[in-house]
Amino acid sequence: MSKIEDSLKNKFISAIETIVSDKKEMYWFKNIEFRFDDESNTVVVPLQNDFLVDFYEKKFGPACRSVTENIMPSRPAFRFEKAADTPVAKETPQAVQPSVMRNTDAPAAQKAAPDQTAKQPFTLNRIYTFDNFVVGHCNRFAHGMALAVSESPGRNYNPLFVVGGVGLGKTHLLQAVCHSILTKQPRLKIHYTPCEGFVNDYIAAMQKGAMDAFRHRYRSLDILVIDDIHWLANKEGSQEEFFHTFNALHDAAKQMILSSDVSPKDIPTLEERLVTRFEWGAIAKIDPPSFETRVAFLRNKAEMLGKIFPDDVLEFISNTITNNFRELEGAIKNVGIAAEVTGQEITLALARDIILKNIVHSSAVQTGTTDILNAVARAFGIKVSDLQSQKRRKSVSMPRQIAIYLTKRLTNFSLEEIGAFFGGKNHSTVMYSIDKVEEYMKTDPLFRQRIEGIESELRSKNL
Ligand code: ADP
Ligand code: MG
Repeated sequence: MSKIEDSLKNKFISAIETIVSDKKEMYWFKNIEFRFDDESNTVVVPLQNDFLVDFYEKKFGPACRSVTENIMPSRPAFRFEKAADTPVAKETPQAVQPSVMRNTDAPAAQKAAPDQTAKQPFTLNRIYTFDNFVVGHCNRFAHGMALAVSESPGRNYNPLFVVGGVGLGKTHLLQAVCHSILTKQPRLKIHYTPCEGFVNDYIAAMQKGAMDAFRHRYRSLDILVIDDIHWLANKEGSQEEFFHTFNALHDAAKQMILSSDVSPKDIPTLEERLVTRFEWGAIAKIDPPSFETRVAFLRNKAEMLGKIFPDDVLEFISNTITNNFRELEGAIKNVGIAAEVTGQEITLALARDIILKNIVHSSAVQTGTTDILNAVARAFGIKVSDLQSQKRRKSVSMPRQIAIYLTKRLTNFSLEEIGAFFGGKNHSTVMYSIDKVEEYMKTDPLFRQRIEGIESELRSKNL
């Protein structure tokens, strides 16, 4: 494993640890092989055979995907794949038999949806239902629209376009609509896929010369749900194909539900005609949760965990982690696990200890990178996409160096990771950018003031 893969694997393991509490499962994770495919920006975990690929995909696919997004600024995709015919080493993932992992999907108190996806070519997380969705000021509209769409698909809001930062509940909400439709209107033909799935299907269909079948499959649906549609950025062929899919479904009044980390016009390189279409229906924005919603969310999770968390602990967590449900969930689980493992009661002192220790490694830094790009682009009146491009004009290259400098100061990413994030630069180019900014700051007080201003604004936002 290369150094970068090694460091990515460590981040992956600590992130997955916040989700998986079963020791055997963690043992399994610690022994997986881990490969990072630079070209496709994908983390790949090879497994011995198709059965295992299928099994682990169903069991851990969504969790792995969601943590992988946060281990690197380029938000890599994730997949299990059948290994090339290499012998399997001792104590590789296959050493743990699937049977020991059954029935650990959810603690008993969670209201899991029945598994209706047995006949479907996709899997949903059974916990991601409307019942388990906490509604607050931040997501009230998005929730209301999603409910309306689940009751009468194709009628109003088409497409329903859910926008929100990482960990704010987009996937949960999209899957809640799917669960609801599968239960209440099982005759409707629905398909849920992360955008990556659509792109991969499209590529596979082209390679096999099976475009007709591909088109028929997507265009004969009643409801198409595509998560993380911002993944279409920089993929012209897929954008073109999706444009036609969109038109066919829209013309037939078939419902589409899409989600994205940013609004349509901010998806880099997204064709104008798609931007326009994405805005045809309703844009449902999810904002970061307020303090009250964070506490309500944590109460709900505490109940699911079947543990009693005193109010001051819930308030402490809500005050410390402010902009991401996924982080909040990880934090409360960590505190619960720590109490269990050490046999202590859940107290404020314990929560403080665990959370402050973990926060440095938290993927809250991920939210930071988006904030950094936005702040720098805004300050210099350029586009976010320019910052990650190869453009050499000074009006772009200087702000890019500043963004690199701020990313180094404000996140835990390595120089290699930062380089990859800023358009595939190597480690020494990143160093050079940082040196350059530091040099200017020393010689130009006005420049220094400006950079420090952006930095302190970003710091206060992420506290
Ligand atoms: P996103 O897709 O926006 O990155 P997710 O849907 O994956 O976010 O949500 C991250 C985690 O937080 C999931 O475990 C999800 O169940 C939980 N979550 C997010 N929003 C809510 C909510 N409003 N109520 C309950 N759980 C939520
Ligand atoms: Mg998601």
